[in-house]
Amino acid sequence: MHICPKCGSKSSAEIMYGYPDFKNKKLEKDIQEGKVALGGCVVFDEEEQATRRCNDCGNKFDYVVIRSGGV
Ligand SMILES: [Zn+2]
Repeated sequence: MHICPKCGSKSSAEIMYGYPDFKNKKLEKDIQEGKVALGGCVVFDEEEQATRRCNDCGNKFDYVVIRSGGV
């Protein structure tokens, strides 16, 4: 369970980075239901990125270092 450290809400979306697959109907549904949020296409190597976004206050949390795996 992911709990927002700011407001204590248990409702948060997973932040996805990279290009979303808009043909993916499940992804589209997850976004509409607030389960998934899009974090944008640019991911900086070795930098901390939030992986959850609170659906109630918009606070981003659960920071992890994401490696794009690119060049
Ligand atoms: Zn919150």
